[in-house]
Formats: sequence, C-alpha cells, structure tokens
Amino acid sequence: MMTQDCFLTDRDLLAIDNLTLIPQANLAKRTSMKTRSRAAMLAIPHDIRALYRIVRLTHLRGWPLLVLGGGTNTIFATAQFEGIVLILDEAFFGHIELADENTLRVGAAAQLSDAIKFGKRHHLMGLEFCTMIPGTVGGALAGNAGAGNWGLCDFLERAILLTRDGEFIDVHRGDFRYSYRHSQLAEGIVVEAELLLEPLDFETSRQRQKDYTAKKKCQPYKIPSSGCVFKNPKDPVSGQTVSAGMLIDKAGLKGYALNDVEVSEAHANFLINRGKASGEDFLAMISLIQDVVHERFGILLEIEARIVGGPLTSCVLR
Ligand SMILES: Cc1cc2nc3c(=O)[nH]c(=O)nc-3n(C[C@H](O)[C@H](O)[C@H](O)COP(=O)(O)OP(=O)(O)OC[C@H]3O[C@@H](n4cnc5c(N)ncnc54)[C@H](O)[C@@H]3O)c2cc1C
Repeated sequence: MMTQDCFLTDRDLLAIDNLTLIPQANLAKRTSMKTRSRAAMLAIPHDIRALYRIVRLTHLRGWPLLVLGGGTNTIFATAQFEGIVLILDEAFFGHIELADENTLRVGAAAQLSDAIKFGKRHHLMGLEFCTMIPGTVGGALAGNAGAGNWGLCDFLERAILLTRDGEFIDVHRGDFRYSYRHSQLAEGIVVEAELLLEPLDFETSRQRQKDYTAKKKCQPYKIPSSGCVFKNPKDPVSGQTVSAGMLIDKAGLKGYALNDVEVSEAHANFLINRGKASGEDFLAMISLIQDVVHERFGILLEIEARIVGGPLTSCVLR
C-alpha cells in the first residue's frame, strides 16, 4: 500500500526544485463538491522543469498520479487517495495572451472565465457557451466542457501536452478525438492551449451570454456540487438526446437525500453536499439513481463527473 512515507523518503522527489509538496493534503478545499478526502501527497510545480521532473519520476516509480484543475468536476470517492495529486501553479501555468489577432494562448491553469473576459477585452468572441462554467482551461479541455452543441475542444487549434511518461508533444486540431464531454487530451497533461476565436460582434456576444446565463439560472451555483453528474443520454427508441435531469426528476428523485447527499431541488442532475457528505455517500446515491432510472425508463445514465477511487473510477490516473 502506498503511503506518504514512500514519497517523504524519496530523495529524488525531495530534490526537485520549485515544487511544493504537501503530505496528507486536505482535498475538500480543492474540489467544489467538498467531500472529506486526503491525498497522500499534493504536488504543485511552479515551473515547466518541475512539472517535467515530477511527472517523469512518478512514471519511473509507478506512483498513481492525478492532475487536478479547479476540482469542479471531480469527486474523490474514498477518504484517502494513495498517490500524488498534481496541481499546476496558476502563477506560472495560468497565463493568457494573444497568439495572433484571433487566437488566445492560454495556460492550462488559467480560469476559463478569465479566458472569456480576456478574449472580449481583445475584441474576440466564441466562448460565450462557457458562461458560468467554473474551473480551469486544462480541466475544460480534458472533459470537453461546454453547453448546447458546443464543447471547448471545438475551438482548440493546438495544445502542448505532457504524456504520462514525460514527453512534451504538440497536438493540433485533428490529431485527437473528442466528443460530448470526452476528450483524448485527458490521456496526458494539458500544459498550454491555443483557442481560435472570432472577431467580436458586441451585440451578438452580449445576447449569447445573456441566453446562457438565463439557462444556468435553474442550477444551484452557491451550494457544493460538481455540476451535472450524468451525461444526457440518447433515448433508445427515438435516438433523441434526453435530459438526464428530467429523467431523474420524472423518476421522483428530486429532493431525495441519502445522508448529506441530496438530489438538488433546483436541478435534478446536480447532487449537492449538504455539509458532511462522504465520497461513499455520493457513490451510493449515483448507483441508486442509475438503478431507479434504468428500472423506470430502460436507460443507463453514464457518469459525467470524474470519480476518483472506488468501483466507479472514471479519471485517468497516470
Ligand atoms: C456549478 C457548476 C456548474 C457547471 N456547469 C457546467 C456546464 O455547464 N458544462 C460543463 O461541461 N461542465 C460544467 N461543470 C463541470 C465543470 O465545471 C467543468 O467540467 C470544468 O471544465 C472542469 O474544470 P476543472 O478545472 O475544475 O476540472 P477538474 O475537476 O479539476 O478536473 C476534471 C478532469 O480533468 C482532468 N484535468 C484537469 N486539469 C487537467 C490538465 N491540465 N490536463 C489534463 N487533464 C486535466 C482531471 O484529471 C479530471 O479528470 C459545472 C460545475 C459546477 C460546480
């Protein structure tokens, strides 16, 4: 079993410059769901060399490694994560600049909302569909976050990716696959991305932002959650996409609570933490919802949130 001692006695790890190491790190502070969980080690590289060295060493040692952005789509399902959680320092990896007149060059640790604002200040638009999506650009590219028919990967021209064995590669549009809330970029660590936008039409942009904000009004923003837990499935008979929240609501689960996990009254695809919910509580609730919806409608809801630990793990561990 991996413990913090494996890391604390590793001289090569301790010798990496510009790397903050926090043993037994509290992950509740690092995720929007706020379940009580700890990582044997949290590592924060402050420059590219430190990032390269920690990823390379982790690969050589065979240690589990999870890269975390804003933690707004991640649920730690067990009380302890026996590995390294890697967080890119926003001061170094959070830059936003113009690559050319229509392209933003953005560090993976930049907040998505800051990238949208920066684009607008430089007379560019296109990312309005990401209005009110919390988290980082890296996390959004790894999960192809978005709304309506758009995902952030639709705008990606180029990315610098660090592979799990510690190789920097240049990835261009067309080099990787992505689909609804899925992206092959999640197989590596996104370090930087170039996003191609369009010239700003102020009125169109303002209207789009207003529309997306209005759609988000029904979501419980101020309460701990990780956004939509399930993907919107296809109806097996009609082939049409149906709302997972609507199915959960129709199954009579809105407001249903299991310990401190509750199916939000505001939006049934949001599971909220009323205070002391554990990762296990979330897993139990997720399984219960899947069973009830399957029984009622014959549809298996696929999990959209990234689960770390336990039988439903859906995160790429490197
Ligand atoms: C209130 C609320 C509303 C939301 N609304 C939406 C919405 O409308 N649409 C939507 O799509 N999502 C939504 N979400 C979910 C979430 O905000 C997005 O998925 C967001 O893009 C996740 O970014 P993050 O940085 O927080 O990712 P994290 O939760 O930190 O990570 C998510 C996944 O990405 C991986 N990852 C993180 N950084 C990197 C990197 N640099 N390189 C490679 N992999 C990485 C992680 O390992 C993990 O598997 C919502 C969440 C909340 C809490």
